[in-house]
Amino acid sequence: MCCSGGWCRIALKINEGDVFLSITSEQVDLSPLNTFKVAAKAKYFLIVDSLAAIRSALPVIQQHNHRLVLGGGSNILFISDFDGLVIYPQIKGIDLLHQDDNRVRISVGASENWHQLVLTCLKNGWYGLENLALIPGSVGASPVQNIGAYGVEVKSFIHQVEFIDLDSGEVKLFAKGDCQFGYRDSFFKRATPGRYLITRVEFELQKKPDLCLSYQPLKTFFAGLSDVTPTMVMERVCQIRREKLPDPDDIANAGSFFKNPVVSESQFERLKQEYPQMVGYATASGVKLAAGWLIEHAGFKGMTEGDIGVHKHQALVLVNYGEPKGRKIWHLAKRIQRAIQEKYHVQLEAEVRVIGHDQ
Ligand SMILES: Cc1cc2nc3c(=O)[nH]c(=O)nc-3n(C[C@H](O)[C@H](O)[C@H](O)COP(=O)(O)OP(=O)(O)OC[C@H]3O[C@@H](n4cnc5c(N)ncnc54)[C@H](O)[C@@H]3O)c2cc1C
Repeated sequence: MCCSGGWCRIALKINEGDVFLSITSEQVDLSPLNTFKVAAKAKYFLIVDSLAAIRSALPVIQQHNHRLVLGGGSNILFISDFDGLVIYPQIKGIDLLHQDDNRVRISVGASENWHQLVLTCLKNGWYGLENLALIPGSVGASPVQNIGAYGVEVKSFIHQVEFIDLDSGEVKLFAKGDCQFGYRDSFFKRATPGRYLITRVEFELQKKPDLCLSYQPLKTFFAGLSDVTPTMVMERVCQIRREKLPDPDDIANAGSFFKNPVVSESQFERLKQEYPQMVGYATASGVKLAAGWLIEHAGFKGMTEGDIGVHKHQALVLVNYGEPKGRKIWHLAKRIQRAIQEKYHVQLEAEVRVIGHDQ
């Protein structure tokens, strides 16, 4: 056992692997572990590097009712210290399970980096994930909000999800159909926070490219080209993302702060009469509006207030130029929600998970 910088790191050797319990008597600083770079401390903090490690740490985990599973921290806003246990899995590995001429099935540890997985798949000739390149975060978080971009959602490639119920200790496998995937939504997103920890995700990918170029900027860019490859799509997606979205390493942010709201057809018709430029996309549950458009036309795009603001190119992204308090970002988000409600009678729902108490 060794202690440094207020940390005590205990390695317990058990049969199946190592359990690393990182416990501190002081609070653990979470600011390097969230892309909003806000200051927050975890009262307790636990690193586990395998399913076996989690199982043997269950008595410790179950002492805490208030838990949070933390991946890359790119979809989280801490608005206060976390007065419970933060579990920070470090489960790695990409295993090839099965392949034939057309398909390949792989099992990926929850803590693998998402973008690196996309690149590894392309290198191996496993296709499908290319439109989801450069999304920050971990593989384990990808089913939680069914990550999506440029016309593709991860659910299309998920075969099953392995997770552990931290309340009962039961390990479960959910097939795609059990995960209740929706737009930035799933069973895991709706579950009691900190109850389920995803350990591995199985993906089924194609060996023959089946490109999705339905997103207009991709369609336009590749129009007339007959030899487009998945790598070209990945590169174009990265280029568009770099132009449009602030890199959290340069300007702290958590991507789109709000989901695109879905309204009824009749409400959309009423809105169109008042705002003829407003764009809507028909979906099975109604008409999806562009939250960025609503925020921009309510006058928030590019605004700054002290060290926080709304990104100048993308109104859906709230940014932090150096403010340590997540609460201030949350107050701005709530002001935007109220303004959108008053102007358009549309309720904006946060896509980012807001953690902590607002006092
Ligand atoms: C610049 C930028 C661009 C982005 N663009 C997109 C985009 O195009 N599309 C998109 O969908 N998202 C986007 N996001 C949001 C974010 O990248 C994704 O939601 C990502 O999947 C979050 O991964 P993470 O590991 O950082 O999760 P975290 O932020 O750490 O956690 C997010 C949620 O998942 C839970 N969670 C994390 N790991 C596990 C696990 N192993 N088991 C159980 N629960 C877990 C957490 O408890 C939390 O509820 C963007 C974010 C940024 C900063």
